[in-house]
Amino acid sequence: MKIIRLASFLVALLTCWSLTAGEVKRGEGISQKLFEKIVKNNPAKYPKLWQTIELVTQKNVDVYIEATKGSLGRAIGKKAIYLAPKMFLRAMDTHPEDRLVVVVLHEFGHVLFNRQPGVRSSSTADREYAAFKYSVKHALVMAELGDTGPIKQLIKYLPMRVKKGKKSAPHTQALKKLTKEKFWKQAVKTYE
Ligand SMILES: [Zn+2]
Repeated sequence: MKIIRLASFLVALLTCWSLTAGEVKRGEGISQKLFEKIVKNNPAKYPKLWQTIELVTQKNVDVYIEATKGSLGRAIGKKAIYLAPKMFLRAMDTHPEDRLVVVVLHEFGHVLFNRQPGVRSSSTADREYAAFKYSVKHALVMAELGDTGPIKQLIKYLPMRVKKGKKSAPHTQALKKLTKEKFWKQAVKTYE
């Protein structure tokens, strides 16, 4: 059963691949020199992060490395993700590579959600829920393929955000809902 689900996910992934792939681009607030340094040197340091970025660009998403305020990533519309330079530059103890992978998956989840019809009426909490859910589902597929790193990061951090996050924040509301669901509980049971 698991194998069939996995196979159908991969087939869906392959058939979704667009002929027009996206690219990694220099966004605002970052010099050409720094951008080139990141693109040249960082893939050797964070190969899994760049595999994930590659996967996303193959699905017709442009990934901008851009100085962002606060958060590490954001997504806009149906084909743009923005990642903060500090994701690539700073040695972040709280953000091992698997957690950076999860950031990309979350933003990609936003893009996929935005590509669905009728999303305009959805609330911010709905959007966050969809993005988080996608990141968990994708991490579960990675785990089934043998890499449990990203799902373990999610299991570690998502419940923490429910506890520590502002109750009224859309992220907190979304995660509160998600972490009550059966598939999440099953994931925790399997990979914690
Ligand atoms: Zn989000």
